[in-house]
Amino acid sequence: MRKPTKKQSIESYSRQKARQKIKARLNAELPRWIVVHHIDENPLNNDINNLKLMGNPKHISYHLKGKIHPERTLKTVEKLLSLYNSSL
Ligand SMILES: [Zn+2]
Repeated sequence: MRKPTKKQSIESYSRQKARQKIKARLNAELPRWIVVHHIDENPLNNDINNLKLMGNPKHISYHLKGKIHPERTLKTVEKLLSLYNSSL
C-alpha cells in the first residue's frame, strides 16, 4: 500500500473541512454520493464561493471531461443545489 504524501493528507483534511462547512450551512447531512467540488480545483480553497455540490457521478464526469452521463442522479443533485444556493 502506498503511503499518503503530506500534500494528500492536507488535501483530504481540507476536503473534510469543506464538507463540514457545507453541512453546517445546509444544516443537513450530505449523502455519500454528494461531493463538495472546489470550483477553482484548489482543494485548499474552502471559501464558500469556491464550493459547489455535485453528485458523485457528475463530479467524476466533470473531471473526466464529460465521458459519463449520470442522468438519474441529476434531479436529486439539482434539488440539493437549489437548497444550497438559496441558503447563500
Ligand atoms: Zn472536483
